[in-house]
Amino acid sequence: MPARNILVINCGSSSIKFALVNEAHSQFALSGLAERLGHHDAVLHWQRGGERDSLMIPSGDHRTALAQLLPLVQAAAGGKLHGIGHRVVHGGEHFTTARRLDPAVMQAIRATIPLAPLHNPANLQGIEAALKLFPDLPHVAVFDTAFHQTLPEHAYRYALAESLYREHGVRRYGFHGTSHRFVSQRGAELAGLSVGDSSWLVAHLGNGCSTCAVVNGQSRDTSMGLTPLEGLVMGTRSGDVDPNLHGHLARVLGWSLERIDTLLNKESGLLGLSGLSNDMRSLEQARAQGHAGAAIAIEVFCYRLAKSLAAMSCALPHLDGLIFTGGIGENSPLVRSKTLAHLSLLNLALDKHANARTIGGVAGAIHAPGHPRVLVVPTNEERQIALDTLALLH
Ligand code: ADP
Repeated sequence: MPARNILVINCGSSSIKFALVNEAHSQFALSGLAERLGHHDAVLHWQRGGERDSLMIPSGDHRTALAQLLPLVQAAAGGKLHGIGHRVVHGGEHFTTARRLDPAVMQAIRATIPLAPLHNPANLQGIEAALKLFPDLPHVAVFDTAFHQTLPEHAYRYALAESLYREHGVRRYGFHGTSHRFVSQRGAELAGLSVGDSSWLVAHLGNGCSTCAVVNGQSRDTSMGLTPLEGLVMGTRSGDVDPNLHGHLARVLGWSLERIDTLLNKESGLLGLSGLSNDMRSLEQARAQGHAGAAIAIEVFCYRLAKSLAAMSCALPHLDGLIFTGGIGENSPLVRSKTLAHLSLLNLALDKHANARTIGGVAGAIHAPGHPRVLVVPTNEERQIALDTLALLH
């Protein structure tokens, strides 16, 4: 059978990220981004082979962008597209694996909107547009939360009345599941272990950041919760704060819920701490030039990450290794070394040279000899979504 092509789509409220994945090749045949959808300056950017191009689609919506994409995808796939994989952020407790899209699955995704009021409607918008444009292809939904449905109850319950859980779904769900699953499998391969018989700590550090404890290929705990705000310091998200902060800001400053939501999700994290940027690369440069805000932002980021990894270790029977992934995890020797400096109690230590050279999409081991494994594993959520889609085509 010739290698098959899957189009992977990730829709935000005003954007679509896409990649055409061929099962036989690690490079994407086509990839890109449509952004500012619905605005006068909406634009589609794509990359094919070494070439980049873009097209203005003034006031274009998700459907317009996908329609413009159609001939590009057909050309890059040589007319042979086998299915479409959709990233869906929240599958609630309903979805424990990827699912072929049909009216019942669409309805269950719709029913999960109260848990992800920003993300799931955008994902559905993209799914509906793609179903109209590609009605004859199989469509598969792959959920960010599904991998974490194996958390034991003591890890996913909040210390709140049971009725809030049973009647309103208030529990910890976790996100980034596709990435944690992909890199824990790749990490086990790199280490020559079976993923079904190994235990990992994973740090996914991108704009959003989360840790995960993976035992025998299953998620046993993770740092994000009911929403992706819980846990680590992120680009613009605060991560954990005192749960009384909402009440405090409302009482002391008279702030509304919306104002506090914006503060915690969009104005905090690395951006809030540094007063400069949400981007780790910019912060590393500013720190090197003596910017105090950038320096403290990186210190807090690494200390809180180390604390979370230590907490995740409670879910492991033993440690086969720690995996770094995501834009920061794959590219920042500074963050990796500062984080591990707080984890000497777990006997973790880095090889300085291996740490410095394992950047830019390179996978490899960076631990000092005689210490537990520390691996850098580039994530590839698009590829995992394509593989999940292919698995459901039969
Ligand atoms: P997303 O979550 O949007 O997919 P990425 O996984 O691409 O994000 O990660 C983005 C983060 O990775 C940004 O903070 C960016 O600064 C950081 N990053 C990328 N390259 C480097 C680098 N060379 N050094 C430090 N940080 C980097």
